[in-house]
Amino acid sequence: MAERDTRKRQVRCLNCFERFAPPKGVDRMACPKCGIEWRLTWSSSDSVKIRGPVWSKVKSGAI
Ligand SMILES: [Zn+2]
Repeated sequence: MAERDTRKRQVRCLNCFERFAPPKGVDRMACPKCGIEWRLTWSSSDSVKIRGPVWSKVKSGAI
């Protein structure tokens, strides 16, 4: 059942579609594959979604 719990905590990168699981409670995390940093929102303690990119990183040339 750990598999199911983990999947709910994963997000999918909107840039490269890599799935990754942010540590619980963090509000931003960079995709491990392409390096784009995403803002995260937690609808519950174990359900997370991407809100959007961290624009300051985008402007500085991360994309
Ligand atoms: Zn990515």
